[in-house]
Amino acid sequence: MLKPFSNEPLTDFTREENRSKMKEALQKVRNSLGREYPLIIGGEQIYTEEKIISYNPSRHSEVVGKVSRADRALAQRAVETAAETFLSWRQVPPEARARYLFKAAAIMRKRKHELSAWMVLEAGKNWVEADADTAEAIDFLEFYGREMIRLAQPQPVTPYPGEENTLEYLPLGVGVIIPPWNFPLAILTGTTVGPVVAGNTVVLKPASNTPVIAYKFMEIMQEAGLPPGVINFLPGSGSEIGDFLVGHPLIHFINFTGSKDVGLHINSLAAQIAPGQKWIKRVAAEMGGKDAIIIDEDCDLDDAVAGVITSAYGFSGQKCSACSRLIVVGDAYRPVLDKLAEKVAQLKTGPAEDYGTDVGPVIDEASFNKIMSYIRIGREEGHLLTGGQGDSSVGYFIQPTVFAGVAPHARIAQEEIFGPVLAVIQARTFDEAIAIANDTEYGLTGGVYSRNRAHLEKARREFHVGNLYFNRKCTGALVGVQPFGGFKMSGTNSKAGGRDYLKLFMQAKSISERF
Ligand code: NAD
Repeated sequence: MLKPFSNEPLTDFTREENRSKMKEALQKVRNSLGREYPLIIGGEQIYTEEKIISYNPSRHSEVVGKVSRADRALAQRAVETAAETFLSWRQVPPEARARYLFKAAAIMRKRKHELSAWMVLEAGKNWVEADADTAEAIDFLEFYGREMIRLAQPQPVTPYPGEENTLEYLPLGVGVIIPPWNFPLAILTGTTVGPVVAGNTVVLKPASNTPVIAYKFMEIMQEAGLPPGVINFLPGSGSEIGDFLVGHPLIHFINFTGSKDVGLHINSLAAQIAPGQKWIKRVAAEMGGKDAIIIDEDCDLDDAVAGVITSAYGFSGQKCSACSRLIVVGDAYRPVLDKLAEKVAQLKTGPAEDYGTDVGPVIDEASFNKIMSYIRIGREEGHLLTGGQGDSSVGYFIQPTVFAGVAPHARIAQEEIFGPVLAVIQARTFDEAIAIANDTEYGLTGGVYSRNRAHLEKARREFHVGNLYFNRKCTGALVGVQPFGGFKMSGTNSKAGGRDYLKLFMQAKSISERF
C-alpha cells in the first residue's frame, strides 16, 4: 500500500553532520562547474553551437554551465516529437505513470544535497532556501503521483435507473511548460510532472538563468525510466522560441509561472487560433505579487517583526509570495520601525555558498539594476530606514532595505520590485489597513499579525488574496497543506500542490450506456 502523502522534512543545518554533507555536495558541484549540456528531444541529446551561459550570481565571473540553445527548427521538432509520444503515453495506465514520479522522488531524495548545492551556485539560494526548494520538488512528485491515482478511480456521479454512467479524466495533449528561475527545481518539477502524470506530453522551456539545475531534473526523469519524448527539454530565449511554442497549432495548453507582463502576453497569444488548430488552448499563468502583511496594534510585535523579516528577505525578496508591503496599524507603528531597523541591520548579506548567509545575491545584472532603480525611487517616496546600498563588483549584492512613511499609492508600494526592499505604510485603523492591503492589482499572499478575533475574522472575509496567513510568515506554502496560487493579476489561481491542480490539464468524459 502506498503510504499517505506527507511533506519532505527540511534539513537541520544546525547539526554538524548535515553541514558537512552539504559542504561535500558543494565541493562536488564546484568540481563540475563550467560543463556543457545538451538539449533533449525524444531522448536524443543535441548539442548546439549557440549556448546559454549560466553564471553564479554570488560571483559572476564563475560559469556554472553552458547549455545548448534551441532555435525554431528544434522547437518544431520538439513539438512534433511530443505529439507523437502522446499517442503512446496517454495509453500508459495512470498508476504506472505515477510510479515514474515516485521513482524520481526517491532519486531526488538520494541526491538532495547535490541538487540544493546546484541551486546555491546557480540561483544564489542560501542553504536553507535551496534545501526547501529541493524538498518542495520531492513533494510535488509524491503529491501529484497520488493525485493521479485518486483521479483514476471511479468518479462519483448520481445513479440513474437503467443506465450505467461513468466519468473519467483524460489528458489534453501536448503542453508547453514555462517556469521561472526563482524556484528553479520546485516550480519546474511541479509544473512539468503535474501535466505529465495526467497523461500529457510536454516541451519544457526552462528559465535562462537556471538551465543547469533544469538539466539535472531531466537527468533524474531519465534515470527514473520515463519514456523518451514525454518531456522534451528545450532551453532557449523566451522571445525567440517562447512565442513560437505558445502559438503552435499542436499545443493544447501552456503552464506558465513568471512575471505579469510575460503571462499576459502568453495569455493573449494563446487566445489566437492558429491555422489548423482544432481546440481552445488552456493557459495556467501564475504571476507576480505585491504582498502585504498587516501588523495590528494588539499582537506580539517581536514575533510579527521576525515573521515580516523572513517573508521580506528570504531569498533576497525574490519570491512571488514575499512581503513587500508592511502595513502597521496605529500605535504599533513606532515600535515596529525601531525593531525593524535594529533586526534588519543585523542580517548577514553575502555569498549564498557561505553557511549562515541570510541574504544572498539577486539573480543577475538586470535584476540588480532594476532593484537599485527602485531604491532610488524609494528615496523620493519614503524615508530610508536601513539598507539602500548595492555592490555588483563581485556578485549582485543588495542590502536588505526598508523604506518607512510610504504612501499606499507610491510606486514602491504598488509595483513588484522582486528584491530585498520593503515599503512600510501606516494605517490609522485595522479597516483602513485591509483597504490598503487590497488596493493593488495583485492578490497573491497576505498576512495578519493580531490577537483581535474580530479583526482576524474580518481579514478572513475581506483580505482578497489566494494565500492568507495569520500570525506567521506569508511565504513557504507547503504542497498539499497550503495549495498555492493568487487572485487578480497574480494569475489564474491554479493552486499548485492542491487537489484541483491536475484537472487543469485534463478533460472529463462522461459515458452513459443504457442496458
Ligand atoms: P519572467 O516572466 O521573466 O520569465 C518566466 C519564464 O518565461 C522564463 O522561462 C522566460 O524565459 C519565459 N519567457 C519570457 N518571455 C517569453 C515569451 N515571450 N514567451 C514564452 N516564454 C517567455 O519571470 P522570471 O523573472 O523568471 O520570474 C519572476 C516572476 O515570476 C516574478 O514576477 C514572480 O512574482 C513570478 N512568480 C510567480 C509565482 C506564482 O506562483 N505566482 C511563482 C514564482 C515566481
